[in-house]
Amino acid sequence: MMVHGQNGELERIVRVKKVKKNTKLTLAGRKPFENYGIVNPPVYRTSTVLFENTKELGKAIKNRFNRTYYGRYGTPTTFALEEGIAEIENGHKTIATSSGMSSISISLLSFLSKNDHCLISDCTYYPTKKFAVKMLLKFGVNVDFYDPKNINSIKNKINKKTKIIFMESPSSLTFEIEDMSAIIKIAKKKKILTIIDNSWATPLYFSPIRQGIDISILAATKYISGHADNMLGLITVKNEKLFLQIKDTAVNLGDCPGPQECYLGLRGLRTLSARLERHRSNALKIARLLENNNKVLKVFHPALPNNDNYTLWCKYFSGSTGLFSFILKEQSKNVIYKMIDKLKLFKLGFSWGGYESLILPVFPKNERKIAKWKEKGILLRIHIGLEDVDDLTKDLFQAFKL
Ligand SMILES: *Cc1c(COP(=O)(O)O)cnc(C)c1O
Repeated sequence: MMVHGQNGELERIVRVKKVKKNTKLTLAGRKPFENYGIVNPPVYRTSTVLFENTKELGKAIKNRFNRTYYGRYGTPTTFALEEGIAEIENGHKTIATSSGMSSISISLLSFLSKNDHCLISDCTYYPTKKFAVKMLLKFGVNVDFYDPKNINSIKNKINKKTKIIFMESPSSLTFEIEDMSAIIKIAKKKKILTIIDNSWATPLYFSPIRQGIDISILAATKYISGHADNMLGLITVKNEKLFLQIKDTAVNLGDCPGPQECYLGLRGLRTLSARLERHRSNALKIARLLENNNKVLKVFHPALPNNDNYTLWCKYFSGSTGLFSFILKEQSKNVIYKMIDKLKLFKLGFSWGGYESLILPVFPKNERKIAKWKEKGILLRIHIGLEDVDDLTKDLFQAFKL
């Protein structure tokens, strides 16, 4: 019987020698000698799991959240991914879900009841805000948004019913960074749960649980899977109590990622470090060129020293990734849209985190409730892929006449 968390390749090696994160990425969640020596965990497909006798069935019911039990509770492929991510996130355990968005909704639904209050950063991924306003409000949860750049905006809104503070840092359109340790301090004092959407930095460049945040969420659709071919979400928690509560919610809601999706997530994890290093250096190079071009009004990349968030970025992050945005001096929508259509390597489409470069015109003004967006012009959000940086620069500069 395969049991969650035992005899892993990583455990065996770590017992001998403590290894660094990049090495862990290649080992975490693997158990080759439980499967004929085959390097990667197989894609286990199942609904039914069999028990040898009624005594075994009884044991399984008691321990159902931590073993093979029924398809919806996870397969050994799911567990391999979850173990791997928990290790990289420095968390207690991870729960895999069917998308980044379901990781967000399941986490929020796990802890909120009627008349509870929930605080969400105003710069959060728009579908997260929409879920809060459309679904949570419907079930009698009070939702407030706070300005991620103003700690008083949080302090003033906390009340006796506040159960959750939901952060996203940096924000995935405008790249504001929150002063997370200050927020954690307030939350701890008031016994409020903290959750972060860590999809931009990934656990390689920021460790939420180590920082003191209770729950870290990854849209694994993005960098973890890394090839624009997978929908997957990951929730990592700091203790067993949180794990049981969230896992129970996921099972009750009927959410379960398929084993193939989990396999692809785990495969992506193996190359995450190498890919991120290239996304990071390509993106920084292009961000600097844009910043120094006189046809560009402003660049929103937190790892540029001129950016308002640079000090906080240095405080919390050990690296930057491939996603940032900029505004041109040219303000005409017509002209800018024509320029976008001239791009050849940068493709027009949602999402990010794959090997390819993407661009999207976005309008943060329409999404904000508290933290007003005051910048003029169309915000161009770009994801810098793994292409040659000179080709990408040429493409961008010819289309935008830079
Ligand atoms: C894409 C994204 C999500 C949602 O992930 P899906 O897998 O598309 O549901 C959540 N948060 C951020 C910051 C994202 O960019």
